[in-house]
Amino acid sequence: MAVRLPAMEDATPAGTRVKHVVVVGAGIGGLSAAAVLARAGLDVTVLEAHIYAGGCAGTFFHQGYRFDAGATLAAGFYPGGPMDALARAAGIPAWPVRPEEPALTVHLPQGDPIQRWSDPTRWIAERARVNGPAESFWEWQEQTAAAVWALASALPPWPPASLPELTDLARIGVSVLRHLPSGLHAGSLAVDALTSAARHLPAAHPQLRLFVDGQLLISAQTTSAHANALYAAAALDLPRRGVVQAEGGMGAIAHTLAESIKRLGGRVLYRHEVTAIRMHAGAPVSVETRRGGSFPVDVLILNLTPWNAAALLGSDAPYRLRRLPEHPAGWGAFTVYAGIDASVVPDGFPLHHQVILRQPLGEGNSAFLSISPAWDAARAPAGRRAVTLSTHTRLDSWRGLEKDGPAYSEREAVYTERLFGAAERVLPGIRSAAGLVLPGTPDTFVRFTRRIGGWVGGFPQTSLFRSFAPRLAPAIWLAGDSIFPGQSVAATALGGLRVAHAVLRSLGTCLEHPAAGQQLAGDAIR
Ligand SMILES: Cc1cc2nc3c(=O)[nH]c(=O)nc-3n(C[C@H](O)[C@H](O)[C@H](O)COP(=O)(O)OP(=O)(O)OC[C@H]3O[C@@H](n4cnc5c(N)ncnc54)[C@H](O)[C@@H]3O)c2cc1C
Repeated sequence: MAVRLPAMEDATPAGTRVKHVVVVGAGIGGLSAAAVLARAGLDVTVLEAHIYAGGCAGTFFHQGYRFDAGATLAAGFYPGGPMDALARAAGIPAWPVRPEEPALTVHLPQGDPIQRWSDPTRWIAERARVNGPAESFWEWQEQTAAAVWALASALPPWPPASLPELTDLARIGVSVLRHLPSGLHAGSLAVDALTSAARHLPAAHPQLRLFVDGQLLISAQTTSAHANALYAAAALDLPRRGVVQAEGGMGAIAHTLAESIKRLGGRVLYRHEVTAIRMHAGAPVSVETRRGGSFPVDVLILNLTPWNAAALLGSDAPYRLRRLPEHPAGWGAFTVYAGIDASVVPDGFPLHHQVILRQPLGEGNSAFLSISPAWDAARAPAGRRAVTLSTHTRLDSWRGLEKDGPAYSEREAVYTERLFGAAERVLPGIRSAAGLVLPGTPDTFVRFTRRIGGWVGGFPQTSLFRSFAPRLAPAIWLAGDSIFPGQSVAATALGGLRVAHAVLRSLGTCLEHPAAGQQLAGDAIR
């Protein structure tokens, strides 16, 4: 809830040098923006409600296990990729990650498992084995993805919210179009910007379509009939560009960012739930926490869902936030965290699996299973492995169920069994090998990430025009998976980088160390 102050003695008058950046929420998007801004010499404070960083990409400790709470598959760490760009901009020498092959294994209702190799030769051979005549689809996907990632890496101001942003966008677009791969034309990109990925899928290949639908559900939050073609091409590309395993779990990425912010003189404060923003003359002046803390602010970055941002800003929320539908349209997640006997996992077994049992996808008909690596002793007690299972679930079917009521418990038990049913397809015996079983519902995500309604994964990528422009007001920015380029660790990192870049540009000569900021902005747009 936002509180209007009629007058503030210590309010920073407009136009003076910016001193304080406050980031609400230590998710990947907020941490990325914070790290880059701290490196540029700004005074950065990240306020996080929970006891550790990472939000949906955090790792929690329980009874000797470190379970990935949501995100398990880390991509985008290749040279020139989003995480590499972030590391360079934030001055992070190296991420604590190891490469992983195959990137993931997909189990369709029929046929052998399909390996998504990052190694190009093996992937081309694998897709030829599974759906040979559909090679033209993958050629389109790879060429289009190259153009889209080139565009996204230039941090385009999408959707443009002002004339300078439109000019900037045109400049970046022209530069990308000049370097299109042969075989790709501006005209076909323009059509793809407005149509769905299904246009490129041959009707005669239902297996290919199901495979693509499964991949798009986890990367674009919708299937090929609805996913925007440009977004889909880029999202399908991430496994091909390499997957890594973070040492100690996915939370190590957020931890690295948090440590980097502190090293650069910033603060990351846990157990600091923000409950109010104090405003004066349309600008934020301080951020208040549940524990009674008050933090002066010149630039406010809300690494929150639009619904959370709207609730915090209250009557000061911009029109766009005030006209949001009551409930977010999109997905929640049902998860199971299981501590299993390691003997059930064969040596060298792939660590990430998507299982599709039947359609429609989600609700336990499809599931994602990730196993902690045998080499990572920090993840589980000796002889055990930490497993995260998840499935997409519609939020309206959970809404209104009493958390302590029998209907809720029954539904939780049904979904837990569905996920183990899917996991048995991959690892026979996993159900009885699981000593510790912790189910997570959309309510669990509300509790641990504060995301209103348990809405996760951002907006399903049905249209390029759906995501939020990050600038909510002159000194208030939105970061996280609701801004372009959307959900995932890599995409929210890129979004955070983009917000940092835009903040630095908006500050112009107000930077404490202008040279650092300009260098950084130049780097990011190269
Ligand atoms: C089940 C599941 C599986 C996923 N799998 C993958 C995957 O395999 N690979 C991948 O790349 N991505 C995956 N994702 C997506 C990815 O996790 C998210 O897109 C990304 O982590 C979202 O980051 P964010 O920056 O939007 O912040 P969030 O993760 O939403 O974090 C927001 C933070 O803000 C804090 N906060 C909220 N309100 C307040 C407040 N008032 N005051 C202070 N702090 C507050 C929260 O505690 C939280 O830490 C998955 C997501 C889920 C849910």
